Amino acid sequence: MKLKELVKQKFSDIYGADPALVVRAPGRVNLIGEHTDYSEGFVMPMAIDRAVWLALRPREDGIVSVYSVELDDRTEFDIGDLGEPGDGWGEYLKGVTWAMLDEGYELSGWEGVVTSDVPVGAGLSSSAALEMATAMAYTALASNDWNAPAMAKIGQRAENEWVGANTGIMDQMISASAVQDHALMIDCRDLSTQLVPLPSDTKIVILDTMTRHTHTGSGYNDRRAECEAAAKHFNVEFLRDLDKVTLQKNVEGLDKTILRRAIHVVSENDRVVQAMSAMQNNDPHIMGLFMNASHDSLRDNFEVTNRDLDLMAALAQETPGCYGARMTGGGFGGCVVALVKSERAEAFATEVATDYANVTDLQPHIYICQPMGGAEVVKS
Ligand code: ADP
Ligand code: MG
Repeated sequence: MKLKELVKQKFSDIYGADPALVVRAPGRVNLIGEHTDYSEGFVMPMAIDRAVWLALRPREDGIVSVYSVELDDRTEFDIGDLGEPGDGWGEYLKGVTWAMLDEGYELSGWEGVVTSDVPVGAGLSSSAALEMATAMAYTALASNDWNAPAMAKIGQRAENEWVGANTGIMDQMISASAVQDHALMIDCRDLSTQLVPLPSDTKIVILDTMTRHTHTGSGYNDRRAECEAAAKHFNVEFLRDLDKVTLQKNVEGLDKTILRRAIHVVSENDRVVQAMSAMQNNDPHIMGLFMNASHDSLRDNFEVTNRDLDLMAALAQETPGCYGARMTGGGFGGCVVALVKSERAEAFATEVATDYANVTDLQPHIYICQPMGGAEVVKS
């Protein structure tokens, strides 16, 4: 059953009525521009055809109560009495609630069902999709217009200040504002966006290594701190403001690790801009080369790959039909994204999966993706 039907079905099983609203917010894959968002740089994600779906109806008592199909668990809280942040998936909904209240939105209660086919912790941003679905629920119930950058910032505040994961703005921005059949180049400084078509006759293939990260583990937050230290050394507010020449001229006295972090961010920002040109020129070969170079830099300079990501990227890159492949998401586990000739996509997926399983004994999940639109109300 399609998730849209499933979520409506579950809702009517539980509440004995049809939902007033169904909202959808997609997961995403980042094509290029990794670990640049929190340095106010460039990223180029697309929304995928996997999403969080929420079926709901309003409540009059200021309570939010949601049942998760995947977790077989219910979260419930009072909008007027959120208490302190705790543990569990309800914190993403509470965090969005807290941030919206803090920014002066008038919120009313609701109840419903959530379901999702965005794999959890795979780097495809199930958390941002959950946040944007929650923000869309409040927005639709209040009959407000959807302000994608404002809601993305709400989601980021929920994640940073309530859940305690120091993530950037990319995930929420793409889930909130994607456009079907396109990737989106996002300038994380002013949140301006540019639509970028995918090269013709190509498919985006996501290869899940089945190894996992935790955002609240130290790796991600360490990298943020290292980028801040680098910016301080070069006397710029963010690494976005640093160019290659200035970087090369001012390395004296800089710790080698911090230098490598800076080299990654500065070169990755350049790669995103050039990759966008390649896509606009309908040139998958050049786009692929930038993806490969991005992986190398994430492995050698930023050091956020693991053995399985390196293996998967290498296997993908050497399999016929592949223009380029790189790790995607925060790293330390999760997925590789590959740009593949359409007619080879299915065979490519099977061949890489077999090779990877032979070496690791892990059976990878593979998704051949369509670029989808962003968060929306699908039924009113
Ligand atoms: P990801 O890379 O998928 O964003 P995170 O660790 O940031 O990984 O977020 C995953 C968390 O999001 C889950 O642990 C859970 O709390 C929440 N989540 C994701 N999908 C669902 C779902 N279908 N139902 C309830 N909570 C979910
Ligand atoms: Mg997440």
